[in-house]
Amino acid sequence: MTAQIIDGKALSRQLRAGFRERVGHLQAQGVQPGLAVILVGENPASQVYVGNKIKACEECGVRSLHVGLPADVSEAEVLATIERLNADEQVHGILVQLPLPPHIPVARVLEAIAVDKDVDGFHLYNVGALVTGHSIFPPCTPYGVQLLLDATGTDVAGQNVVVVGASNIVGKPMGLMLLQREATVTICHAKTRDLAQHTILADILIVAAGKPGLIVPQMVKRGAIVIDVGINRLPDGRIVGDVCFDEVKEKASWITPVPGGVGPMTVTMLIENTLRSAERSFPLARGDDRHGWDAPPAARA
Ligand code: NAD
Repeated sequence: MTAQIIDGKALSRQLRAGFRERVGHLQAQGVQPGLAVILVGENPASQVYVGNKIKACEECGVRSLHVGLPADVSEAEVLATIERLNADEQVHGILVQLPLPPHIPVARVLEAIAVDKDVDGFHLYNVGALVTGHSIFPPCTPYGVQLLLDATGTDVAGQNVVVVGASNIVGKPMGLMLLQREATVTICHAKTRDLAQHTILADILIVAAGKPGLIVPQMVKRGAIVIDVGINRLPDGRIVGDVCFDEVKEKASWITPVPGGVGPMTVTMLIENTLRSAERSFPLARGDDRHGWDAPPAARA
């Protein structure tokens, strides 16, 4: 068996074409959707990620505001910047690129973002909404994975899903989202004993550990769907995932490539969340109430 490729680039292109229509609809009502991206310092990887996000905004007609702050900026100044953006009606989404320099407490920064502009979905309120199954802004990477799974035509209900990696931005929200869809979810992490004993049972295997070559074919059930979230740069400059792609694709039924799988979808879902926020801010501009916002006013930071 050779797996079919789940093409994140193609799906992204398709979704982004639909976004341009939604932006047009918003603009016709006088709303210009806007995303603010805060980058602290000059981490080269972060600069690339921010660049990709700004480019995607341009492609979809979303206004982007790039706020660059020096690496030695004070916590107070970061919080004041967020406060200013929270109050700016032209900004519908605020994203703080992680990681932050060690002297800036990540949790305090994320919690300063207004919950109805938290398009990364990392604010405690949005995390809680995910736990209770009333997702407001689903975190972008797991949200993208969910759409990639949908693209295979698979109903995840009742399936054994194994997520390798338990971070707050990928593994944990991924597990919660698929649990909400009635999958049987196992989340593994660096302290998991005998990882293969878990992965071999997976109908759907999602890997987000940041370890190239972690998943070899012996760890994969024949016919499994394999989603590789990992992005690793090898010493020779190549970008690879966490899964031994060439070997595992001979055993899986579907597999995502790296690059060209989950990566483009993450940025696409960020634009989706920004549009959703703009549509909520101006109910007449949305064609239906799919994206209804039902948070009590007190929940708005
Ligand atoms: P992280 O370092 O915060 O978390 C890694 C997780 O993997 C931890 O829970 C850790 O316990 C687990 N882990 C590490 N080694 C393991 C092992 N040998 N066996 C089992 N579990 C192990 O990383 P993260 O931010 O969640 O990112 C994970 C990977 O996904 C990275 O390669 C990152 O670059 C990539 N990533 C990709 C996208 C995308 O858009 N494609 C988005 C976010 C992260």
